[in-house]
Amino acid sequence: MKHYRIAAIPADGIGPEVIAAGLQALEALARRDGGFRLEVESFDWGSDYYRKHGAMMPEDGTERLKAFDAIFFGAVGAPDVPDHITLWGLRLPICQGFDQYANVRPTKILPGIRSPLAGVGPGDLDWVIVRENSEGEYAGCGGRAHRGLPEEVGTEVAIFTRVGVTRIMRYAFRLAQARPRKLLTVVTKSNAQRHGMVMWDEIAAEVAREFPDVTWDKMLVDAMTVRMTLKPKSLDTIVATNLHADILSDLAGALAGSLGVAPTANIDPERRFPSMFEPIHGSAFDITGKGIANPIATFWTASQMLEHLGEPAAAARLMAAVEQVTAQGILTPDIGGTATTREVTDAVCEAIRSAN
Ligand code: ATP
Ligand code: MG
Repeated sequence: MKHYRIAAIPADGIGPEVIAAGLQALEALARRDGGFRLEVESFDWGSDYYRKHGAMMPEDGTERLKAFDAIFFGAVGAPDVPDHITLWGLRLPICQGFDQYANVRPTKILPGIRSPLAGVGPGDLDWVIVRENSEGEYAGCGGRAHRGLPEEVGTEVAIFTRVGVTRIMRYAFRLAQARPRKLLTVVTKSNAQRHGMVMWDEIAAEVAREFPDVTWDKMLVDAMTVRMTLKPKSLDTIVATNLHADILSDLAGALAGSLGVAPTANIDPERRFPSMFEPIHGSAFDITGKGIANPIATFWTASQMLEHLGEPAAAARLMAAVEQVTAQGILTPDIGGTATTREVTDAVCEAIRSAN
């Protein structure tokens, strides 16, 4: 029997609630499937750990994670801890330390969930956004001169490397090739940004020659927001820079109904290190402890994790169970229902157990 070691980092806010729900569903799958077993170790890192120890995780944190097959992550962020500490103290060291350069964000309208777009239902919007996760606008390059003076200058330099762009482009073409429509849209802003963005366009054209069976096109990011809203069916796989994909995937999540259903996978495609799976949403302290956090984003990312581990049947079974439950109208308040986290989780586990 195959055996996977999972590091769970529930962290802050609703993180522990949705990770508990995700682990319950994974356990139901492993029991039903019988072909694999999950050994889960939980780490109490996050803002509570920071308050006690002055750091979000121990110094050898990433080193300890290396022994795992995957990382199942909740959310970080607390009202009393500055954002740069929560983010740079835990999530980003893992993403960067493990060179998880492909951030994969599937979006589709699940049955029973209403999109804010009139007349758009399941089947009309089914995308995967691939976000470059290691460089670009968030490379942290820039600075401030003449601070506070009238002549102050601040720079924020986007760094694009041939290695970085080529590898994310190849990942996106390969992913597009594996999906039924074999359709990829490459997003840039190369009309206004004449250096790195033009390099993106050129590398896209080069990599495209390796994938003659993939149909691809280019979009400027501003026009892309219009196309996503007005012609969602014309899109399938999308690749964009760190900043552009960050923005586009928030739009995608909103068009699909709620942040509470949007998952993300931080992948090291070369499998040198564990990849990390998490819901897109943050710690959401406004609903923490109320038992109404939507666990669907976490189920979905758990499905991505199973896929990455090499358990595609279990991954598909989990998503089928989620879709069965949303179709029945068992929904948390953020997507218009009255169900609790526990009721949705129990229904998904029941659907897993009773599926043929
Ligand atoms: P952070 O600062 O960590 O990003 P946040 O307080 O900004 O957290 P988010 O989690 O980013 O909040 O989400 C914004 C809002 O969306 C939340 O305040 C919450 O009401 C709602 N929301 C997010 N995730 C969920 C979820 N899983 N279930 C229900 N509502 C959610
Ligand atoms: Mg937020």
